[in-house]
Amino acid sequence: MVALYIVPTPIGNFGDISARAIEVLQQVDLIACEDTRHSGRLLSHFGIETRKTALHDHNERDRAQWIVEQLNEGKSIALISDAGTPLISDPGYHLVNHVRQAGHRVVPLPGACAAITALSASGLPSDRFSFEGFLPSKEKARIDKLEFLKEDPRTLIFYESPHRILYSLAAIVDVLGADRQVVMAREVTKTFETFLSGTAAEVLALVEADDNQQKGEMVIMCHGFTLSDEEGIPAVAVATLKLLCEELP
Ligand code: SAM
Repeated sequence: MVALYIVPTPIGNFGDISARAIEVLQQVDLIACEDTRHSGRLLSHFGIETRKTALHDHNERDRAQWIVEQLNEGKSIALISDAGTPLISDPGYHLVNHVRQAGHRVVPLPGACAAITALSASGLPSDRFSFEGFLPSKEKARIDKLEFLKEDPRTLIFYESPHRILYSLAAIVDVLGADRQVVMAREVTKTFETFLSGTAAEVLALVEADDNQQKGEMVIMCHGFTLSDEEGIPAVAVATLKLLCEELP
């Protein structure tokens, strides 16, 4: 079928690719990869010999038009990124938008995503969450972003890189508070997978004390904002107020 297929790839463990993903990658005419050399290793591991083309942040808008032309010619195309789900802190948004506007089908496959995988094992509330991608690299913008999120009641999920992890954890301590519950999931699905949890200050101290915790790939998750006992209105007061509202003229 002529379509653009959005195909997730593993975030560390090759066993996590789906049977359908392999089938689609074998059958399409072309695979658009963030980095053809990087994806070449995964594709050759599964014996996939489909032609590859590069689609990354710097050429995505130009490439999108070319891909629409390929679809117009009846070719089917898969989009993959270096790891996980394309478009999630990865290229693909402009392409999908362009392909849809051109009237072609976009078919998503479910699969690995570091944010969801990490959240599922974090022990933090997962009924409502906000995925925030990477915090800004500049200090002021990072602080402003956290100030904006400070009173968000949902679990907050951030991606982070090894060279910025200490700055980000320190900013979380400063802005969200030293007592905010934090979980850092590192190298998920890989040999050295670790989950560190505690208050923001405790997690920062653990990461500062152990160089290994500053390596690899990591997801930081923060408990959403909750009122402390002193700030919150006790349940009994709310019930009394409700009763008064009903009874008073
Ligand atoms: N598209 C990917 C996804 O679906 O998760 C995310 C790509 S983003 C460029 C890369 C970031 O994802 C890393 O810096 C890290 O924050 C997170 N990440 C990717 N793989 C991970 C893993 N195995 N363990 C922890 N975090 C991971």
